[in-house]
Order: sequence, then structure tokens, then C-alpha cells
Amino acid sequence: MAQDWNRRTKLIHAGARRSQYGEVAEAMYLTQGFVYPTAEAAEARFLSTGPDEFIYARYGNPTVAVFEDRIAAIEGTEDAFATASGMAAVSGALTSMLRAGDHVVSSRALFGSCLYILEEILTRYGVTVSFVDGTDLDQWRAAMRPETRAVFLESVSNPTLEVIDLRAVAEIAHAVGALVVVDNVFATPVFSRAVELGADVVIYSATKHIDGQGRCLGGVICGTRDFIRGTVEPYMKHTGGSMSPFNAWVMMNGLQTLDLRVRAQADSALALARALEGDARLARVIYPGLASHPQYDIARDQMTGFGTVLALDVAAGKDSAFKVLNALEIAVISNNLGDARSIATHPATTTHQRLPEDQKQALGITPGLIRLSVGLEDSDDLLADLQRGLALI
Ligand SMILES: *Cc1c(COP(=O)(O)O)cnc(C)c1O
Repeated sequence: MAQDWNRRTKLIHAGARRSQYGEVAEAMYLTQGFVYPTAEAAEARFLSTGPDEFIYARYGNPTVAVFEDRIAAIEGTEDAFATASGMAAVSGALTSMLRAGDHVVSSRALFGSCLYILEEILTRYGVTVSFVDGTDLDQWRAAMRPETRAVFLESVSNPTLEVIDLRAVAEIAHAVGALVVVDNVFATPVFSRAVELGADVVIYSATKHIDGQGRCLGGVICGTRDFIRGTVEPYMKHTGGSMSPFNAWVMMNGLQTLDLRVRAQADSALALARALEGDARLARVIYPGLASHPQYDIARDQMTGFGTVLALDVAAGKDSAFKVLNALEIAVISNNLGDARSIATHPATTTHQRLPEDQKQALGITPGLIRLSVGLEDSDDLLADLQRGLALI
């Protein structure tokens, strides 16, 4: 039975639908809408759509439905809704569930756009937001209120890879009836145990590992059928953040190789972290799979692998970090992650440039910090690429 399949089997087959032609690869239904055989059939469908009945691609589409069913199957949720980007998923999940008077508690270490939604957008509509240090459980406890409707966190934070104790935060949140909403990009669907540990809603930017080749934007919200079809879908279908069928087709093909890619990339990330740890030119090598990582035990407990990203803090600061970046011949300087190509980022001057200095400091985003998303290249070659840059310092 499909429910009993292991994750790797689900990644290939879950949610598959075949047309009357019996095609092997999933069909791409690049259509905005659907024809009804009669006026009565149109009336009936607008009254209530049955399984595999569609009206308009903003509401749903067969190709998008396969992607949604496949990702829900691997994440272990009842349902999923695919969105135009990761940010459409974060904003859609939060905005669809919250109303004026609600309170949200969020970890402070967030992707810039997530921070913008919580700080600037939700608060315009009467939602209050408290920020906490995600690794400090006392701060989570102290921030909860009777009107706390949701907690939001990145299970592994960007770019300093702090790991938040999901099980403990879920217990604290559930005690006041709040939903646990997790942005799980860095944990990846391959290594995630988020639902088992108490997450109610799990969000991915599919742009990252799910595509894995830097081609398309996409996102997905995973949750209960009630939440996805009762709360998220009405909001998304009327506000227009749905995923395009073309992108869904690219993403579902990404899922077929997701497990292999992410495991290979994580193996290389660990090899690089181990090889570079202790290098005198680096103040810190941050990777959740190193025993020296402050949340190593939590990472081991709550993920089945440690992810594909590591961070290197060049002790001599920005100029030296730039020397390392500019010397790279294999890894490219860019800002995506989870790609088959290794990507190096200098967060302080790019992705996190707009943060005030004191916040950068509080989050550990130092002038020497380089985030490295490890790709599918040979890890010895990647190490040599970095070593050559480090030798210039
Ligand atoms: C990239 C990213 C997002 C946003 O996803 P997009 O697909 O770029 O919209 C959200 N959260 C995290 C943690 C990310 O890395």
C-alpha cells in the first residue's frame, strides 16, 4: 500500500496519476482551465469539486496535484498546497490563519523576507509578534500568551545554522493551543522529522533542494487536510499565489532525485566541515553534524542527516573572506542554496545586508562569515578550491 512505502519509494511514485494514454513520465497539463461537458456539469463542479476535478489553475491543476500529493506523502502530512515561491508559502500559511488580535511568537534568526512578513506586514493588520532567541526555551515559554495563535521558526537557521529544539518548542506552543509553523528548508524533506516532533505546518521553498538545479521558483505548505483545504486553499485561490503547472512538473522531477542529491551533498558538507575545522584562519566552522556544534545533540535527534550547508567564519574579516570568495573556481558566488552547483554567499553584504549592525552581531553574521551550499561536485575538488583561497590570506 502506498501509505506503507518508505520515503524513497514515495519520492518516485506517490500521487502519480496517468491519463488514458498511460504515459510513463508524468504529463504536464499546461492549461489555465478545464472544459465541462455540459452546463449542468459546470454547475455541479462549482458547487463542489470531487477528487481529480478541476476548475481553474489558480485553484488547482492535475500536474500541481501530483506534486502536492507527493510532497505530502514524504513529509507525512495529510495534504499540501503548492505555491509560486517559498515566500508565497510562508506568507500564505501565516496570513490565511491569522486575524487581528492574534499573537505570534517567532524565532529571531530568520530569512530576511520571513522577518519582513512578521515585522512589517502582519503587524499592519493588527497581529502582534514577539521575537525570541530560538535556542532559548525559557524565552519561548515567557513569550506565550493566551492569544498566541502560532509560533514560527526556521528549524535550522540561515546563515548561522542554529538548530531549534522542535519537540520542546512544540510542547510549549501546544500548551497554549498555538500552531507550530516550521520553515524547514535547511533540514530538507529528506532529513525532516518535523511532523513526528510536533510541527503542525511545514513549509519548504521548493526553489532550493526540491528543484535542486536552480531553475524554478516554488514553495509548498504541508499540513492537515482541514488546514490545507479549509484555511490555505481559499486564501491562495483568491489571492493568486498558486504554483504554475510548468514549475510543478519541474519540481516533481526534482523529487525523483532529491534523496540521492541531498545525501551526497550532505556527505560532502560533512567532509568539508571536518577537513576545515581547526584551520587557524577560520574562527569558526559551523555545521550541525560537527560534535562542536552547540546543538549537535538536538540536530542528531531531530533530523536524519545534517543538511547541505555549512558556514565558515574567516577570522581576518571581510577583505579576507572576499579573497577566498574571489579565488573560487568551482563554487559560484550567488545566493541560492540546495543547488547541484556549490554556491558561496557572503551574508553580511548580500542576503543580510539590510540588518542593522547590532542585529548582525547578535545573530553571529560576522564580516568574515561565508555560507557554503555544498553541491554535487567532488568534495576533494571543493576542498582544494577553498584551500587555494585560504592560502591567499
Ligand atoms: C529561500 C528561502 C525562503 C524563500 O523562498 P523563495 O522560493 O526564494 O521565495 C524562505 N525561507 C528560507 C529558509 C529560505 O532559504
